[in-house]
Amino acid sequence: MPELPEVETVRRGLASAVTGRSIAHVEVLHVRPIRRHLPGRDDFEATLTGRTFTEPRRRGKYLWLPFADGDALLAHLGMSGQFRLERWNAPDAPNTRIRFRFVDGEPELRFIDQRMFGGLSLSVGGANLPAEIAHIGRDPFDPDFDVAEVANRLRRKRTGVKRALLDQRLISGIGNIYADEALWRARMHYARATSTLPPARARQLLQAAAEVMDAALDVGGTSFDALYVNVNGSSGYFDRTLAVYGREGQPCPRCGTAIAREPFMNRSSYRCPRCQPARLYAYR
Ligand SMILES: [Zn+2]
Repeated sequence: MPELPEVETVRRGLASAVTGRSIAHVEVLHVRPIRRHLPGRDDFEATLTGRTFTEPRRRGKYLWLPFADGDALLAHLGMSGQFRLERWNAPDAPNTRIRFRFVDGEPELRFIDQRMFGGLSLSVGGANLPAEIAHIGRDPFDPDFDVAEVANRLRRKRTGVKRALLDQRLISGIGNIYADEALWRARMHYARATSTLPPARARQLLQAAAEVMDAALDVGGTSFDALYVNVNGSSGYFDRTLAVYGREGQPCPRCGTAIAREPFMNRSSYRCPRCQPARLYAYR
C-alpha cells in the first residue's frame, strides 16, 4: 500500500492534471472499483458528468478530488490503483477501469487497477474532508498537525512505538517502510513501550517520521509495487536512500552493523541491532 510520499506525489500530479476541469463523460469499464457507489454504474457515470474538479487534497494515505459543488471523489489506491493521463485515442493500458473525458478536451484521466482493492466513490459534501475518512488523524505535513499534542497521545497509548506510528487515527500516512526509517533515524527499537518515552523523545520520533517522508517526497516517493505509477504514467520507482527497510544483512549507514529483519505484525521490521537495541521495557 502506498504511504504518504507516494500518495502526495500522485496528488501533485493530479493537481496539475484536473484542477479546474469539468467532466464531459465518464465511462466505467469495470464495476468493482465503484462498488462503494451503491446506485451502480449508470448512476456513477451520470452523477459525475458536468462536475468541475478543484485541487485534489490528501490526508495521510487518503486522497480525494473535491468538486466545486462541495462533493468529492474519494480515491482509494489500494494495492495497485493508479491514475494516468492519456490522449483520447491512446490504447487502454492493461487493467484500465474508469475513464474521464473533459469538456476542455485532452488529456483524459484514466483509473487503472489490476487487483482492484482500490476504487473511486462519491463523497457527498466531502470537499473539505470526506466523512469516510474523518476518523483519520492529521499527518505530519498538515499545517494543523500539533507535534506536542500527538506526542502526548502517543505516550498515553499502551503499545509499542511502531504500532503507534502505524495507527492511522493517531498519526496518518506512515506505513511499514517509513516507520522503520523513522525509528532508525530516532535510534529507537520498534517494540519500545510508548509509555516509557519522555516527551522530548516522543516529539523527536514524530519529527524523524516527518523528515524521512519529506526526504522521500524530494525524490518523488517510493514503492516496491511494480504496478505503481505516477499520474503521468512514469514509473513510481525511485532511487531511494532507505537506511534499514529491505536491507537485511547490509551495513547500517551510521555504524556499519548488519541490519536485522524480524517478524512484526505478519510482516517484518528492520533495525540496526546496535543503534536500536532491544530493551527490557518492550512490547511485542
Ligand atoms: Zn547502526
